[in-house]
Amino acid sequence: MSESPRIKVADTAGFCFGVRRAVKLANEAPEKYPDKKISTLGPIIHNPQVVEQLSRLGVEPADLNRDPEPGVVIIRSHGITRKLAEELKERPDLTLIDATCPFVRRAQEIVAKMSSAGYQVIIIGEPDHPEVAGLISYGEPQNTRVVTSLNDIPDTFFNNRRPSRIALLAQTTQSQQLYNEIAAALLTIKGELRCFNTICNATSDRQSEALQLAKECDCMLIIGGRNSANTNRLHELSLEKQPNSYHVETAEDLHPEWFSQKKSIGISAGASTPQWLIDEIVARIIEITGISKS
Ligand code: SF4
Repeated sequence: MSESPRIKVADTAGFCFGVRRAVKLANEAPEKYPDKKISTLGPIIHNPQVVEQLSRLGVEPADLNRDPEPGVVIIRSHGITRKLAEELKERPDLTLIDATCPFVRRAQEIVAKMSSAGYQVIIIGEPDHPEVAGLISYGEPQNTRVVTSLNDIPDTFFNNRRPSRIALLAQTTQSQQLYNEIAAALLTIKGELRCFNTICNATSDRQSEALQLAKECDCMLIIGGRNSANTNRLHELSLEKQPNSYHVETAEDLHPEWFSQKKSIGISAGASTPQWLIDEIVARIIEITGISKS
């Protein structure tokens, strides 16, 4: 019989401050506005189970490409574009609940300030992510760009003979390693470089702890929605240290053979994973392996 494994759940697994706040505001809305239609601008977080729970309370995600129906509209922690924020404020038939995370708001303000001051603003992030769409909208199109790697920075930046003025920041959930790499390369350019490390502590702490666990354990589970960018990144990082790393959304995704012959199982979870889902998965592993949590 195989030796019983040990389960170690990361202290930083699950909801971050911004997500906890957004989900709380969404949960409180039906009681606060019992007679109004309540919608979130897109799914409140990248977790289908939480979205479903809210839907049972009458809080539904609205289509981002259509004008929201009259009633209460909740802005997600990712924030929205400047244009949409202005349009929504103009609508007298809407009550806005702004759950934009204060750390995302800070990054939006940096983009607006540096871009209007004439800096070349470089945002490290995923171009299709709603937070990044919001960030870029706060800059001037001619001097604000999104990059996913060093290769996306045009040669003209490096070959420019005149001193440059560059402002660097990142989507709040980006990898610290990538940020450091790009900042180091930009430092070689003559002129002025302003580095704003807008990567949220919640993200870097979660990444560091997951990496540490992935090194220590011989099986690693990352829990979170399949379309959650920070969960996917956590899984990628974990895979670098531990090839037996698996991304799961619910307890249904667990395969008992993953735990066979394993002595230690590490668990972390993305910022949009609720505690009850982590508990459910831990309980299922205990059921499969017959061991207790450390
Ligand atoms: S990861 Fe950080 S910036 Fe993003 S919502 Fe959470 S607390 Fe806010």
